[in-house]
Amino acid sequence: MFNKMQWPRWRSVISLFLAVMATCLVGCGRANVAQPTTYSAEQIAQLEIFAPRVTELRDRFPELEDYIQKKDWVDISSFIHGPMGELRVRLERVAARLLPQAAEQAKYYAEEIGTHLEKLDAAATDYNQIVAGKEYREALDDLDAFIALIPDEAV
Ligand code: ZN
Repeated sequence: MFNKMQWPRWRSVISLFLAVMATCLVGCGRANVAQPTTYSAEQIAQLEIFAPRVTELRDRFPELEDYIQKKDWVDISSFIHGPMGELRVRLERVAARLLPQAAEQAKYYAEEIGTHLEKLDAAATDYNQIVAGKEYREALDDLDAFIALIPDEAV
């Protein structure tokens, strides 16, 4: 049975209990929700090294469009096997450093880009400007989708 002497003590026990619960909710919530979707400073630092090597090739990508428009078939092939020959490895290095879900998507886009470039190379061998242009645009879309997966702090 409560009486007027005991009640203040109960109240302090209840408020202590509520305070502990609130702390736990805030703390646990933070750990469960935010951590897996956030890059550590070290991961960002790594991506800052590898991401520019991808965006550098993205910047050179329109050179291919130029060759396609000029029907410069020889330069399409040498560009794919030359400067763009590094692209796949560079994409893999970035993909491996992304958070798991983004990494999975990035690997998909890396595969796609590789396939489009192979088809573009084949189209150049066949002097097929229409297919070359189509594969070029698809490769570019996939490359942009890949770059969009990289956290903004690292690009
Ligand atoms: Zn594609």
